[in-house]
Amino acid sequence: MTASPPVDPFDLVIFGGTGDLALRKLIPAMFHRFLDGQIPSESRIIGIAREATDDAGYRDTLQKALIEGGGDKQKIDTFLKQVHYRSLDAKKDEGWDDFAQLIAEQADHIRVFYLSTSPELFTHICNRLGAHELNKGKSRVVLEKPIGHDLASANEINEDVARVFDESQTFRIDHYLGKETVQNLLALRFGNALFEPLWNAEHIDHVQITVSETLGVGRRGSYYDHSGALRDMVQNHILQLLCMVAMEPPGSLAPNALRDEKLKVLNALKHIDSSNAAQLTVRGQYRAGASEGKSVPGYVEELGEGKKSNTETFVAIKAEIANWRWAGVPFYLRTGKRLPARLSEIVVAFKHVPHSIFDASAGTLAQNRLVLRLQPDEGVKLWLTIKHPGPGGLRLRHVPLDMSFAEAFGVQQPDAYERLLLDVVRGNPTLFMRSDEVVAAWRWADPILAAWAASGEAPRAYQAGTWGPSAAVALIERDGRTWNEDSEDEE
Ligand code: NAP
Repeated sequence: MTASPPVDPFDLVIFGGTGDLALRKLIPAMFHRFLDGQIPSESRIIGIAREATDDAGYRDTLQKALIEGGGDKQKIDTFLKQVHYRSLDAKKDEGWDDFAQLIAEQADHIRVFYLSTSPELFTHICNRLGAHELNKGKSRVVLEKPIGHDLASANEINEDVARVFDESQTFRIDHYLGKETVQNLLALRFGNALFEPLWNAEHIDHVQITVSETLGVGRRGSYYDHSGALRDMVQNHILQLLCMVAMEPPGSLAPNALRDEKLKVLNALKHIDSSNAAQLTVRGQYRAGASEGKSVPGYVEELGEGKKSNTETFVAIKAEIANWRWAGVPFYLRTGKRLPARLSEIVVAFKHVPHSIFDASAGTLAQNRLVLRLQPDEGVKLWLTIKHPGPGGLRLRHVPLDMSFAEAFGVQQPDAYERLLLDVVRGNPTLFMRSDEVVAAWRWADPILAAWAASGEAPRAYQAGTWGPSAAVALIERDGRTWNEDSEDEE
């Protein structure tokens, strides 16, 4: 990664500093930035949680996590000198004076308060940060998803946070926006003359966005059962990806220019409610099956004995954007747990050529497809039709122009959190969601949830290790299309 300009000294305070997200993502991200010389030596990382430990105890925990992640022990120990810990309960007053004093020791530092806790703590934490006047000066707050579980609760969180932090200080993180491929979508669309003239209903047949996981709910069952795939994945990540594909060219990459365009897309999404949810959506829930060669239990078994649930672990949706650019172009969205592969990708399928000059013996003419892979191996493929090399008549082949970033640039791409955390320090909110985007996304999702609840129908069963219920295949196939299977020469 090309080194970005250094940032000013900062304090990063992680509420929920002992949690899964902090240990797996946030701390490793900061360690990698440290290795790249991006963290000024006076900067501090301060973990906060209720657990009664101290700086030394917290550093031990982090050391273990970073060594497990393959870090060099000596470098880890140097990094950990910048790490501190304070034990406090976000819901209680004790401990906050001591914490505020620690922050006051470096009054000129940029302050980033990262709320890596359950959202029910957001109001408590913000109120106490406000009461100790820690929201002043160069302070910012980062909110992890989920921001609410419906429109009303999202509004409540936004209002509570806004009483303490201005919108310009509030960074709602969606780590999908920090992924290299998503940034590359901007570069592809707006840095090449090739695509933009074709980027519309006249030339694009449809778009697919898939975010699939092989894992089940595991230990997150009690959280997930109140959420489900629509809230957990579609309302945030998938809609954000859809916005990046569908938005009009912003005038610049200035934060509000980009976010204004995304908001227009969200506002233009066609409503799905009780009148059309049965045609346009499919919900599923996994049953026992096989994943990565092992037998795995079904969703309700994972929840625990005697549990019942109507929560969807899979959803497929045919969405549409009601504007001139996209009228009539379906956006097929799909996400689920316990699917056959872990992948996130956007597929832009172009229309067929209007007339074939080739004999039937040449083979079928496939659509051009632009496939943007976000994970596991980030990259871009543009599928083209060429002639099969050699003699034997003209036979057509469908092959990709393939740019795997790891191969093309010879480096492991930085994790999205690395970029996003330093964007917060720099005060650049371009890749973060504004409150009106969150509200618009819930405005679209709420009627779908209401329609499902009103129907009283259970989610359709699918076997773990398959691509969801057969109705999800029917959703796209009845339009004469298929879900993308990215295999070479499949035609
Ligand atoms: P987690 O493993 O359950 O960690 C929660 C953290 O909050 C722990 O450090 C916990 O420590 C602390 N905490 C709980 N109650 C507290 C209180 N009253 N006062 C102070 N600290 C308290 O959760 P997580 O997986 O890290 O997720 C954190 C948030 O990020 C959740 O909202 C989750 O939905 C979201 N998120 C997580 C991921 C992920 O990959 N894990 C991804 C995206 C979003 P103590 O119990 O010691 O206080």
